[in-house]
Amino acid sequence: MNSKNINVTKTHLPDREKFDAYIDRLYETAWVTNNGEFVRELTARLEEYLGVENLLLVSNGTMALQIAYKTLGITGQAITTPFSFVATTSSLVWGGIEPVFADINPKTFCIDPVNIEKAITPETTAIVPVHVFGNACEVEAIDAIAKKYGLKTVYDGAHAFGVKYKGESLLKHGDATIMSFHATKLFHTIEGGAIVFKRKEDLEKAKLLINFGINGPDSIVCEGINAKMNEFQAAMGLCVLDEIGAIINHRAEVWYHYASLLKDVVEMQERNPHINNNYIYYPVLFKTEDELLQIKEELNNNNVFPRRYFYPSLDTLDYLQPQNAQVISRDIASRILCLPIDAWLNPNDIEMICNTILAEYQFEGELQADESSERTFVRRSLFT
Ligand SMILES: *Cc1c(COP(=O)(O)O)cnc(C)c1O
Repeated sequence: MNSKNINVTKTHLPDREKFDAYIDRLYETAWVTNNGEFVRELTARLEEYLGVENLLLVSNGTMALQIAYKTLGITGQAITTPFSFVATTSSLVWGGIEPVFADINPKTFCIDPVNIEKAITPETTAIVPVHVFGNACEVEAIDAIAKKYGLKTVYDGAHAFGVKYKGESLLKHGDATIMSFHATKLFHTIEGGAIVFKRKEDLEKAKLLINFGINGPDSIVCEGINAKMNEFQAAMGLCVLDEIGAIINHRAEVWYHYASLLKDVVEMQERNPHINNNYIYYPVLFKTEDELLQIKEELNNNNVFPRRYFYPSLDTLDYLQPQNAQVISRDIASRILCLPIDAWLNPNDIEMICNTILAEYQFEGELQADESSERTFVRRSLFT
């Protein structure tokens, strides 16, 4: 049996000597935060790598959402997806904005534009869609709705690092797109995040907001907060960015290894045909929640710890106003499991994980032998 734990993600720590050299520099200058040289360098390098302008580094992805809402003057209600990490919704609530859910497309797991339009009320000021697992939302349809009703759009692109849509950065859509650079994400700065604004004037406004609204030694011009990225975070980011190509290539190998073993047994997310894959997650959709729970338990017994991303569906949160049940999101949330993926996951471990899943299918196949001998045969044949 496998003795070390295999978690859903494993933080990539870059070359130690290189990181140490950055830290030495910080010990020399003692400039450790407040728009220091590494934050400025990382900003420029990320804009170039991602192919975007108006990028602002911040302390984490959740603050990135809050700063984006504040910058764009979002109030009242915002239409968002129930199928996301809780921060998408909780950040709205913290900003005094009421989240109103629009259900997802059951294939792509992203918010369905048809449901967005149905959820619009006189209070609606914004749309907050999520590029779930790095899959692009239907950006053209969403941008058209935003335009038609005069709404702002903030995309939660926490998973969309490096994703291109029709040859250009996906992060360019909407009034702003946020990213998370948390240690568990594809690219990281330990904790951290960024906002990509469409307009330069919004970037300038947000720069003030993340630094207490301070505009000069004796000048405070707006109700700011503290959301600055510090130099140690930026140093980590510069080192990880040097290795991002290798990280993505290795993750691709893991991703395709899973796919080759599992593609005939589990359902996968339908990906937008106009994007590249950044291999940030390996989500699999089981037929029932019972099947998921069985398989999760078997994996846990082998010290494998996948995660139920995203569960529960956010329309079930107790602290929200009573919500209409988002039926598709609840169904997907109950059956989806993200398998461990990181750049250096061992092929033997991938096979062990897949065999555990396949064995569960074989077992179920046997149980159903009376019902349908044909189906059992199909499932069994996967092992031969
Ligand atoms: C990780 C994540 C966030 C929050 O980012 P932090 O950097 O952890 O604050 C927001 N939205 C989604 C979809 C995420 O996955």
